Amino acid sequence: MIIACADSRADPATIFSAAPGELFVVRNVANLVPPYETDGKYHGVSAALEFGVGVLKVKHIVILGHAHCGGIRAYAEDTAPISPGDFIGRWMSLMAPAAEKVGARGSMSRTEYLERMEQASILNTLDNLMTFPRLSKLVERGAVTLHGAYFGVAKGELSVLDRATGEFRPVGK
Ligand SMILES: [Zn+2]
Repeated sequence: MIIACADSRADPATIFSAAPGELFVVRNVANLVPPYETDGKYHGVSAALEFGVGVLKVKHIVILGHAHCGGIRAYAEDTAPISPGDFIGRWMSLMAPAAEKVGARGSMSRTEYLERMEQASILNTLDNLMTFPRLSKLVERGAVTLHGAYFGVAKGELSVLDRATGEFRPVGK
């Protein structure tokens, strides 16, 4: 199961050379997963997780982030919303814990800062996955493995998260 951004350049089937039927994909703005909530509202990602884990019995869940993510940039640069509801702003506030870990931009270049935010958000989303009670049990039992991946859209380079160090390493290097 892959949770990816809606960005057309971050297409999981293309990145993983997957044929129809191979990947169960959820895409949304900035590949986020809200924490487990039981507020009786509408939870598209939670429903997809329930289906992937409960029905399809996926063994691996990949959070696939990418470079030059418009959602992350909107959050980092506080872009003006298109509606009073500010759907993007509210949605992107899910990455507040990640932004807090990255801290102030300081002397980082804009590109470096946004890349840090994009990658920290993947780690935060992996934490959010563990708030789903049944999923966290399956992960602890080793029945499901969680992964982080990051696609550099300009170079076409895929990096994979090393959970031990928290760093992303290019595949095959
Ligand atoms: Zn994106």
